[in-house]
Amino acid sequence: MTGQSDNMKKYCSTVQPSHMAWPENIVVDQEAASTPLARKIIRKMPGVPLHTLSPGMNISELAGKDNRLVIYLKHYRGRFLRPCPATRKYRCCGYQIIHIGENCPLNCSYCILQAYFQDRVLKIWANQEDLWTELDMVLGRDRNRLFRVGTGEFTDSLALEHLTGYSADLAQFLGNYPNVCLELKSKIIDLSWMEKAPSTRKVLPAWSVNSPEIISREEGGASTLEERLKAAGTCADKGFRVCLHFDPIIHYPGWKKGYAHAVEMILDFLRPEHIAYLSLGSFRFMPGLKKTIIRNHPGSDYIYNEFITGLDGKARLLLTLRLEQFKYIAGKLKKGGVSRQIYLCMESDRVWKEALGYTPKDLGGLARHLLNLSFKDKAGL
Ligand code: SF4
Repeated sequence: MTGQSDNMKKYCSTVQPSHMAWPENIVVDQEAASTPLARKIIRKMPGVPLHTLSPGMNISELAGKDNRLVIYLKHYRGRFLRPCPATRKYRCCGYQIIHIGENCPLNCSYCILQAYFQDRVLKIWANQEDLWTELDMVLGRDRNRLFRVGTGEFTDSLALEHLTGYSADLAQFLGNYPNVCLELKSKIIDLSWMEKAPSTRKVLPAWSVNSPEIISREEGGASTLEERLKAAGTCADKGFRVCLHFDPIIHYPGWKKGYAHAVEMILDFLRPEHIAYLSLGSFRFMPGLKKTIIRNHPGSDYIYNEFITGLDGKARLLLTLRLEQFKYIAGKLKKGGVSRQIYLCMESDRVWKEALGYTPKDLGGLARHLLNLSFKDKAGL
């Protein structure tokens, strides 16, 4: 390692968490270079080569071989707020995505982003002023309309927080909108957003959870289950309610023991009233992802399980196996007192009824039910 790299590492050791390999390049759109966010991020990585992308240039010219190590500060021109890409064929939860960037430094073998995007460049939308304007226009139009919003769809909500502070900025901004509840979904630990969250009722910190074996085998770079649940416990101690997502549930030899262990750990760290809601989602994928997983993660043998194609064109585990897993995990959670907070991600009424004993209709509709759970005051539970 050169002296310059040593200095860079030393300087930045305070901002480089273990889940992130050191970026090789920062690329910034000419138009975005002077935004406060771009300036802040560039300041945090002195010594990392900085390239300005002029109109007509292509990011791939600068991305290099391992393009996960490139941070691209982009002037984003699309819609920042959009509905979750659900399907009308299955029960959807009415979540709205705030689009703050694309890709993720973690390396989960099953990550759908490998199929969504052509490269793994870590893109951050640097023109936050445009984001605030759009959010105000949509969320501020009718303050009686409630919104559940979140950022953890095209990236992990917190994986780049040490550089961007995006979640903290969002928590602060949305503090002015009593009709909006922000979910921050992650697989790592960064609670720095808490300082700027104006109220414990407006932010729902959320973690994806899985069996400890799946986390260590398939979620490269992510925090352990214990670390996630400890952080969730810290949030609960501070007065926040948390969300948990068992997604993707994977069928593997020994899954019962693994998922039972995960549920036990959840109940060790959290009381049922700390959990705003908890989803169960079986591993599902667009057919094109299979080849990518085999190429990028040759040891991930769950991809050879038997799948059927669902109404939305995605491959899913056979119904009987899915039901067995849902019933088993939901049964353990219910025994521990977590019950009406449980919902299924992208499943039909029939699966709901068999797995949970109720359908979204029994809850008044899934989107409505989750809004009620999101906005319910902790004291009212
Ligand atoms: S944390 Fe989420 S976005 Fe990041 S690699 Fe894993 S599945 Fe993909």
